[in-house]
Amino acid sequence: MEWVIYLLKDTNNKYYVGKSGGIKSRISKHRHIIKNKGSCSSRGLTLPFECEIVERFNNKAEMDTAEQRHYDLLKAQHGENLLNINRPLNPASQYIEKQRHYYNQHHAELNKKYDCECGGKYTKQHKARHEQSNNHKVFLLK
Ligand SMILES: [Zn+2]
Repeated sequence: MEWVIYLLKDTNNKYYVGKSGGIKSRISKHRHIIKNKGSCSSRGLTLPFECEIVERFNNKAEMDTAEQRHYDLLKAQHGENLLNINRPLNPASQYIEKQRHYYNQHHAELNKKYDCECGGKYTKQHKARHEQSNNHKVFLLK
């Protein structure tokens, strides 16, 4: 399997950057998307388009890591003519983004205060710490 980052360019100077482990079938999918106005942002291209291989990789991880860099360069070069809607995230940014999303989703739950039998309070994420606290331990000894 060959991993590539590719750039599609149509006759109106519109561009779309993508990555694929199977470029030939990916290209026919893009043709299909353009003809049928599919849900990929490459639908803004017109046929025929040219496909340029931007970089070839030995494995998927290398390709994923390089994607963001290529996107940024191409966005700087082509601006609004680059049709991609979302800036791709490299694996490290993806991880941070997921953590942030999880925290935002569970913020209320994580910070909800529970009343402890000792008379103290703790949040779900700090329950273990509370149980190690002096106030709590003293209560248990009573
Ligand atoms: Zn307690």
